Amino acid sequence: MISRADLHVHSTASDGRLTPTEVVRLAASRGVRLLALTDHDTTAGCAEALGQAKASGIRALAGVEINTDSELGEVHLLGYFANPAHADLQAALAKIQTGRMNRAQMIVEKLNGLGVAITMEQVQAQANHTVIGRPHIARALVAGGWAGSPSAAFELYIGHGKPAYVPRYALSPQEAISIIRAAGGVASLAHPVRSGSEQHVPKLVELGLNALEAYYFDHTLDDTARLREMANRHSLLLTGGSDFHDVRDDGRRGLGSVWVPEEDGDRLWEAAGLKTDETE
Ligand code: AMP
Ligand code: MN
Ligand code: MN
Ligand code: MN
Repeated sequence: MISRADLHVHSTASDGRLTPTEVVRLAASRGVRLLALTDHDTTAGCAEALGQAKASGIRALAGVEINTDSELGEVHLLGYFANPAHADLQAALAKIQTGRMNRAQMIVEKLNGLGVAITMEQVQAQANHTVIGRPHIARALVAGGWAGSPSAAFELYIGHGKPAYVPRYALSPQEAISIIRAAGGVASLAHPVRSGSEQHVPKLVELGLNALEAYYFDHTLDDTARLREMANRHSLLLTGGSDFHDVRDDGRRGLGSVWVPEEDGDRLWEAAGLKTDETE
């Protein structure tokens, strides 16, 4: 079943495989009526997505996914915005992007030290000059014949604890939530089950968290029910989506494939400062 809302989607602006235009067209062709583009650490694809959404006759919301680092472990935060052009938000994202670039350089140097003759240019070609992540390095390693698949590249070289691994600069959850909120955005905790971050919800609510990603491609019905109850207890909004990256993963995390109630999408739309009737 294709849902009418998908609020967690990546494009070529970060590590997705479809351009923002292609993502919106595919979503519209599948009957998705509300789409949020949530690329890692950038809103650079949002203007294109919003433009195409208008042309395709669906609603689109500007978003971002920020992975944080703290004693809370893995906490990924989604931000949703009426206007992502806020100066402090963009300054914070620019700093994270610079950190990613420096880290990619360090990983390439480590790989070179291991005898893997890969260049930063080859990595950048995979990243299409957008936000660089390890998936792009993995693709360059595959393209160069250094690994048989992206997951083998992680296993051999760049996964956590592997010989070319380098940690990256990241905001704390507190910083990420503050920046999202200061930009007028809604902050949602991404895939709390997969990240094991559910236990931190009370603390994150104190820091200003507004929403929980209760609907997600690997959530069981029990997970979703429990998260909905938790959101209710803390007066949080509900978000959800496929975490779509690639049509090759369409079976499991296909665009529009995660059921998200339309009314939750509408509430998010309004909480981000957009009015439902001024849209379609
Ligand atoms: P980065 O944000 O640059 O540290 O890259 C993290 C991304 O790499 C994740 O979002 C996954 O898409 C991907 N990734 C992490 N670990 C693996 C793995 N073992 N195999 C394949 N992809 C992975
Ligand atoms: Mn990703
Ligand atoms: Mn994530
Ligand atoms: Mn994601």
